[in-house]
Amino acid sequence: MADAGFSGAVLRLVNREIRMEGTTVHVDGGVTLQTLVDFTCARGLQGLETMTGIPGSVGAAVYGNAGAYGHSIQELVGAVRFHDGRTVREIDNAGCEFQYRESIFKRNKAWIIIGASLNMQAGDAAALTEKAAGILDIRNKKYPPTMKCAGSIFKNFLLANLPPEVAAQVPVKVVIEGKIPSAWFLEQVGAKGLRVGDIQVADYHANLIYNDGAGTARDLRIVIADLKERIRRRFGIPLEEEVQYIGFE
Ligand SMILES: Cc1cc2nc3c(=O)[nH]c(=O)nc-3n(C[C@H](O)[C@H](O)[C@H](O)COP(=O)(O)OP(=O)(O)OC[C@H]3O[C@@H](n4cnc5c(N)ncnc54)[C@H](O)[C@@H]3O)c2cc1C
Repeated sequence: MADAGFSGAVLRLVNREIRMEGTTVHVDGGVTLQTLVDFTCARGLQGLETMTGIPGSVGAAVYGNAGAYGHSIQELVGAVRFHDGRTVREIDNAGCEFQYRESIFKRNKAWIIIGASLNMQAGDAAALTEKAAGILDIRNKKYPPTMKCAGSIFKNFLLANLPPEVAAQVPVKVVIEGKIPSAWFLEQVGAKGLRVGDIQVADYHANLIYNDGAGTARDLRIVIADLKERIRRRFGIPLEEEVQYIGFE
């Protein structure tokens, strides 16, 4: 958000129901994603365990097609109920037009996701809970709970979308599930440890930018613009934000 704040109303969805119907889960958009992860793991429903530790609500997770560790919520969504400004509608998975960190909801910002039905699989509760706990441990090291950050600042790159001459420069071991972490590109241009004011690029992860004290949104945007320009100059490809801006012109 801009340093001057945001001039407008902010809606917060407070519906909180989770209902199981066999291996299908009907969940309200206002439910915290972590609550849903814990709920499903504890009941032996497989599919969300890798998304443990992602902050935010289920509605936002569907909106941004949230995911981690090779999986995203689009793999589970059967249907989404939403208000389009006039009426309540429902669309199926194909209708959501999911792509990496994208959905039809991102292009229709007035639509409000009321809830979703997720098609999950039967699994072992103890094994799922253990897997989720292991991932949470790793995440807590990367993003210590007290760190003031927005998660990943930039989207990763899809290997298939890269110009061949750029793809050829990427070591095979860096490619994960067809994606190349933007952190790899950022490391090549010296992003780690970069600092403007109190805005700092982590020295252990080039796609993690945090506020180390009294950082400002203005300084954050300076860092983001600098990194985008470095990647453009070195690789000729556009680095795209995963974060969104509020309150800027
Ligand atoms: C430390 C950290 C780690 C993160 N790690 C990951 C990760 O591993 N993977 C990942 O995918 N994301 C990750 N994120 C991003 C984060 O999880 C998303 O920003 C999250 O989905 C935001 O949820 P929120 O409820 O706070 O939504 P908000 O920040 O309030 O909103 C985010 C956007 O979603 C829209 N939105 C929210 N609810 C609804 C709704 N009901 N209907 C329609 N639109 C809605 C808002 O309008 C807004 O545009 C991380 C963030 C942090 C801070």
